[in-house]
This record gives sequence, C-alpha cells and structure tokens, in this order.
Amino acid sequence: MTDAKNTEDNERTHPCPTCKKPLRRIEGKMGPFWGCSGFPECRTTMNDVGGHPSDEIDEHYRCPVCTRRLVKADKEKGDYWFCSGYSKGCKVTLADHDGIPEAAYRCKECGHLLVSRKGKNGVFWGCSEFPRCTASYSDKNNRPVF
Ligand SMILES: [Zn+2]
Ligand SMILES: [Zn+2]
Ligand SMILES: [Zn+2]
Repeated sequence: MTDAKNTEDNERTHPCPTCKKPLRRIEGKMGPFWGCSGFPECRTTMNDVGGHPSDEIDEHYRCPVCTRRLVKADKEKGDYWFCSGYSKGCKVTLADHDGIPEAAYRCKECGHLLVSRKGKNGVFWGCSEFPRCTASYSDKNNRPVF
C-alpha cells in the first residue's frame, strides 16, 4: 500500500511528484483522477484512491480480468464501463452503478467473469465462458461463495 498516513497529514494539498505544484482532483471519463495544476506545462496525473492521489488504481475502476483501468462508455452508448484493454482483446464490460462500475467476480477455474443467474434453487453464479467453462458458485448476499 501507499503511505496513506502522510497523505492524510497533508490534507487538501497534494504536491505534484514532478513539479511540486498542488494536484487537483478531476472528474474524468475514467472516473476521478488527479492532475497537476501546472498543466499543460506539467502533464503528471495520478489515480484517485478514496479521495487521495495514489499510484495505485482504485479497485472499483480496475478491470477484474486483466487489471487495466476501466473506461466509462460515451453517454450515447449507455451507462456502462469497458476495459481500456479492449483493443488488446479484453472484452470486459460492466454496468454502471451510481458512477462506479458494478462489482465483478472472477471464475476461479478460468479467470473469466462470473454472471449471476437464476436457477431452480435460486440465484447462483455461473461462468461467462459457459458452456466452455461449467464452473458455478452459490450466492450469498449477491456475491459468489468460493
Ligand atoms: Zn506537476
Ligand atoms: Zn480487461
Ligand atoms: Zn470459468
């Protein structure tokens, strides 16, 4: 993890790691991020984790399959997020849930996404690669049980 304590102590002013000018929080297309107030001279950007700049990617905005960042689709296309690795072959899309990609879980067998399905005995999680992968998991509080 990053030094969350130091960040806390600084409150508000988070200096740019490149030029030391304050960073500012920007609501971007890929979710919130931090940009340098020295822009365009300084193009440093950092990810936002829990309202603080960080090198880490907020898990909420990370592709659950390939760990690249998720990108919000254009408004005309609907409320969903897609993986920034799309052109590299990762076709993950997640529905938008109040501005955050919906929670996603991976199949322990093949690493692809799980989708919740309704079966005879209630909700369960099946692999999105079905029928190639027939793994399924029972549901507890809208999460798969591994
Ligand atoms: Zn800067
Ligand atoms: Zn991906
Ligand atoms: Zn699977």
